[in-house]
Amino acid sequence: MNISASAHWLKEHQQKLTQQLVSGRMPHALLIVGASGSGKSQLIQWLSHVVNCLHPVREGDTGIVLACKQCKHCKLQSSDTFPDLLELDRSENTISVDSVRSASRFLESKAQIGHHKVVVVERAERMSVAASNALLKTLEEPTAGNLLVLSANNIEHLLPTIISRCQLIEIRPSLQQLTQNHPQHANINISYLPELTDPSLAEAFQAYCLAMAQALDNIQQWQLFEQQLTEQERGLLWLERIVYLAQRSLGSSQSADESSLPVVQKLAATLDFDSLIKVFQLILELNRHLADYPQANAAMLKQQLATTLFTLISGTE
Ligand SMILES: [Zn+2]
Repeated sequence: MNISASAHWLKEHQQKLTQQLVSGRMPHALLIVGASGSGKSQLIQWLSHVVNCLHPVREGDTGIVLACKQCKHCKLQSSDTFPDLLELDRSENTISVDSVRSASRFLESKAQIGHHKVVVVERAERMSVAASNALLKTLEEPTAGNLLVLSANNIEHLLPTIISRCQLIEIRPSLQQLTQNHPQHANINISYLPELTDPSLAEAFQAYCLAMAQALDNIQQWQLFEQQLTEQERGLLWLERIVYLAQRSLGSSQSADESSLPVVQKLAATLDFDSLIKVFQLILELNRHLADYPQANAAMLKQQLATTLFTLISGTE
């Protein structure tokens, strides 16, 4: 398949994977990380098709291998009936231990008709701790030639033991690459891809950042931000990203693109590094808790987080 022009930043990853594939050095597990909309699924689809194509072709200018779309395997892949490919359900909110176990069993034997058996687990952060542990066994005892492909929006939500056993591919399109088709959004942070392309979400995100910036300027305005955090569906995700960027801008790996949001600069000027780490940990714990217990009272837990943040910020004045 061809990768559409909108995701040309995937090519460097395809070139590296092509080299590994043609030299027979494919790893047994890959973890593809990137913000929502960065092209993870496109990369996975390309890879899962090309590894089992009978007559792959080379793209002239880039050298990337492409599936031929004509052979028996390609046709089975296009009709979702290829027996050596298993994709875990993308629509479920969580990935159960049972799903992981059946994927592991699938990978225990050699491919039936293809070169490789392939299992795809998109949004791997949906795995509970128990499911992650079940997957670890497969990662520790891989069957030669078989391939497990994981993807995640947030690497922070995965167990370090999972990450360390995969070849990591980080998709990080530059601001320029992302905004060349959307020049009007050039001032929006690249980490918010849906916010970049969905105008109503972009507006909500800007209102959120403004409310938080005002609360940081004047703690009397806190209530408005707290409302945004607890009522806005993506409120916790946005806070996670802002805190992460503020923490990074205080560290050494500062990127001009990413720390350019005023609210990030204000937060970095208000809280010290240790406090930001503490808040970040609390957000991650809350995220995990909400993922593990869908019936939890999310509004109340977010309120508690807001109170902790308020105490830290008002303590600095
Ligand atoms: Zn083919």
